Amino acid sequence: MEIDRRSAKVMDELKEFLAQREKEGLLRKLTVVTERQNGKLNIAGREYIDFSSNDYLGLSSHPKIIQKTKEALEKFGASCSAARLMSGNLVLYQQLEEEMARFKNKEAVLVFNSGYQANVGIISSLYGSADCIFSDRLNHASIIDGILLSGAKLFRFQHNDTTHLLSLLTKERKKYKKALIVTETVFSMEGDKSPLKELVEFKNKFDCQIMVDEAHATGLFGAAGSGVVEEAGLSAKIDFIMGTFGKALGGFGAYLASSAEVRDYLINTARSFIYSTALPPAVIAGNLASLNLVKEEPFRRKKVLALAKTFRQQLQELGFAARGCSQIVPVIIGDNFKALQLADKLKACGYWVTAVRPPTVPPKEARLRFSITYEHNQEILGNVIEYLDKNRV
Ligand SMILES: *Cc1c(COP(=O)(O)O)cnc(C)c1O
Repeated sequence: MEIDRRSAKVMDELKEFLAQREKEGLLRKLTVVTERQNGKLNIAGREYIDFSSNDYLGLSSHPKIIQKTKEALEKFGASCSAARLMSGNLVLYQQLEEEMARFKNKEAVLVFNSGYQANVGIISSLYGSADCIFSDRLNHASIIDGILLSGAKLFRFQHNDTTHLLSLLTKERKKYKKALIVTETVFSMEGDKSPLKELVEFKNKFDCQIMVDEAHATGLFGAAGSGVVEEAGLSAKIDFIMGTFGKALGGFGAYLASSAEVRDYLINTARSFIYSTALPPAVIAGNLASLNLVKEEPFRRKKVLALAKTFRQQLQELGFAARGCSQIVPVIIGDNFKALQLADKLKACGYWVTAVRPPTVPPKEARLRFSITYEHNQEILGNVIEYLDKNRV
């Protein structure tokens, strides 16, 4: 009886939490998607143009990737059925890691099962309670969780604010053994880039290491499309270049490009790497195919970046608070309910746009996050702009 009463109380607390979230316009809900192909979604019998996916280059439905995925499925079966240190380390992994290391211009690459697992595993393996980590305030949750798990002292600097970072480094760096500066290269909710050149200067001046997360940059920036690090010509200066296959590369999984020693060390220590079944062969084969497509089809990234630039400019000219300098175009609305209302109106017109709200973004900065992809065109974007212009909140 006592146990029943206690568990009823726990349930009441959960219900109260959910009711509160709903009241604040912050309740998260899952939506069932019945079809998803070529930048379109089908939800409850209706088709939408998707502005919420990270399939920036439209590679997830590319016939070459689907073909390679099928071949690997036939040849190797549906699963690796073991962690890579057991019997799951298929030759496809070796090929993918070698290709990616060349692409990223680093000595070695280690593939992880997801970006979340990569960040959590990398940071918690390499840093401990005697160390300190300087992290951009808007870094992804997986970076924060990796830092928390490491036990290192966390210092958050204001977003892309090198003056703030400099003052933190000056004041705090000496008190700790190792130090890491960690940032995304393209920020997922702001669509802007980090000041890599300055961060590298700080690395040298304050004896730090640098880790970057290129989840939203790989496939889009740099002459070869490898990311913002390539674009800035800094691959030799950045110790840890992490990125994912699940966004522009249209696949799944993640990687760290680093020195060979770091790779060896992580194979021995990163728990999210050691204690997890290897990704299925088909996924790895698809990732290999998409890496080749990024090299073979640069017209994809050129189109996406040109579309995004025009879209952002036109919105700004109409007085909208459109931010960033990448394929991600956030339009800041402010109020949670207004952002939700506007997203609902766009959905009613067949545009699937998500309202991103706190805690994913800072308070009072609820926004519509437009992901521009290869599947969009001037006409679609023009229609969205016209609609937003006529339906101001
Ligand atoms: C999506 C994302 C991740 C997580 O990658 P998954 O492969 O989806 O787990 C990590 N970092 C950033 C910046 C991301 O946007």
